[in-house]
Amino acid sequence: MFEKEIREAASILSKSTRASASCGAGVSAESGIATFRDAGGIWDRIDPAEVGTPSGLINTLEREAPKLVPLFIEILDSFESAEPNPGHRALADLEAMGILKTVITQNADNLHQEAGTTDVIEVHGNLFRMKCLACESIRKYERKPLIREVKERMAGLNSFNLTALASLAPRCDGCGFMMRPDVVMFTEPVQDLPRAFAVAAGCDVMLVLGTSGVVYPAAYLPREAKKSGAAIIVINPTENPFESVTDIYIPMKTGEVLPAIVKMIREKAV
Ligand SMILES: [Zn+2]
Repeated sequence: MFEKEIREAASILSKSTRASASCGAGVSAESGIATFRDAGGIWDRIDPAEVGTPSGLINTLEREAPKLVPLFIEILDSFESAEPNPGHRALADLEAMGILKTVITQNADNLHQEAGTTDVIEVHGNLFRMKCLACESIRKYERKPLIREVKERMAGLNSFNLTALASLAPRCDGCGFMMRPDVVMFTEPVQDLPRAFAVAAGCDVMLVLGTSGVVYPAAYLPREAKKSGAAIIVINPTENPFESVTDIYIPMKTGEVLPAIVKMIREKAV
């Protein structure tokens, strides 16, 4: 399926040394990560206004912790069992082959790094990088051990009130205060935005992967890249929200298409 488009994408990428990728939730969904915005996703089950902001989360935890805990555990489980998928690994291959320079991702699950990509811009932060709420120092944790530790502490709680849940958070090595995941919640600014736009403006090919095009800044990056003359290759099984700037659209999963592209380039079949 879409053999011609895949070959064309491989041909364009084979000539590039400064390609970029802009990744949305679809890339992580292929690894089984719970998604927020899709139909049946987390925001269909709980109002983002209630838990999507720091103050909303604290207020809701105070009132309705028992209701939130099962959802919280379900999300933790999906992040614990996830593994990098063939799409993640193919992006790491493209980087190692000297084709792909930078991955810009909306996902905070660390799977690109675990697949071997070294240059990742995480505009929504990283769930396993903790930031001290007092002194703002940062500490990166390993994904699975951290989740297991949080789940163990949860199992030991007698009640799910705010104080109890706050005790789940790791403590700062420096000052001993509570840490929180260094992720972007609603009302908070996205991270590394100037660099994300510089990468978009400086690339010659942008792979636009599994993104719905509604989340800032992902919605703007392909347009920025196109303005600077980059070829835009969109891979997303459900839709192409970037039609006006797209050169090649492949309506398939990234985990199917990207490994095929890597194989064609390696075998010089382009
Ligand atoms: Zn601290």
